Amino acid sequence: VLLETAEEVAEAAHASPVPISNRDRIIYPESRLTKGELADYYAAVAAIMLPWMGSRPISLVRCPQGRAKKCFFQKHDAGSFGDAVKHVAIEEKDGADQPYLYVDTPEGLLTCVQMGTIEFHGWGARIEDVEKADRLVFDLDPDVGLDFEAVRAAAFQFRDILTSMGLKTFPMLTGGKGVHVIAPLVPRAEWPEVKDFAHRLAQAVAQLDPERFTAALPKAQRKGRIFVDYLRNQRGATAVMPYSARAREGAPVAAPITWKEMETIAEPSHFRITDAKELVKRAASSALQDWGRAAQELPRL
Ligand code: ATP
Ligand code: MN
Ligand code: MN
Repeated sequence: VLLETAEEVAEAAHASPVPISNRDRIIYPESRLTKGELADYYAAVAAIMLPWMGSRPISLVRCPQGRAKKCFFQKHDAGSFGDAVKHVAIEEKDGADQPYLYVDTPEGLLTCVQMGTIEFHGWGARIEDVEKADRLVFDLDPDVGLDFEAVRAAAFQFRDILTSMGLKTFPMLTGGKGVHVIAPLVPRAEWPEVKDFAHRLAQAVAQLDPERFTAALPKAQRKGRIFVDYLRNQRGATAVMPYSARAREGAPVAAPITWKEMETIAEPSHFRITDAKELVKRAASSALQDWGRAAQELPRL
């Protein structure tokens, strides 16, 4: 096939590495975005998505009939996805190993999309050693009715606290209602220690500023506050992966941003699957190319 224009060459470079069936199926009814467009999005962002996601066990949110129909969360699979979607055996609470999934190639990523996946969620640990956390994440969940201004202020507060403890952090818009404040870690501390750290820090922040924050699990105690969801920092818990699309209205994506951008971005669903080109360009910028990278260890509380 002869490609005529530079645009065609670029398009071809982004074409899905696996065949996508039912490309015209509507996945996002409100915006009429299709399975083909979702696959094109993932083919375009594969190279910026896999450096973070490719080394960790993942869970999938699959919605084969689109985001408005039945969706399910899938943690493991014995082989129906084929060879491009790889397995890592992880021991579950009952002592039995289960085949968890990981994808470290565009083929693996797009195979999941072909199978109806919209969202990718990942462990905070790498497949080489799933007992050791390689990131802390503070998942800031605003109560209904709180505006993004409150989330923004909370994110900066977490940044400042973690900075004072010697931890560099990176913000991510979830594509939903909140943000994740992420501190990468050299994988050394094991889950019980990491969870304890996150729990105690969340409780301390909630005690210092009880009007704004809560670390309490009962929903009734979250009224008007931001819930610091420290439970993302325990063995087996996942968080949405950078550049994952979300199964939410408007086709938003989870997007790494800089702290500078956090000052002005108006909503956590700022970027959408139609912004693939912009996201790829941004990821190579000097402000974002080192997003999520820092060699640091869990401090003592
Ligand atoms: P938002 O900004 O709207 O809160 P979010 O991705 O942070 O978006 P949460 O509801 O706070 O959404 O969930 C945090 C994480 O918990 C998710 O990203 C996901 O990895 C995990 N999670 C959510 N729902 C489930 C579920 N049903 N089963 C397993 N894990 C889940
Ligand atoms: Mn959240
Ligand atoms: Mn949460």
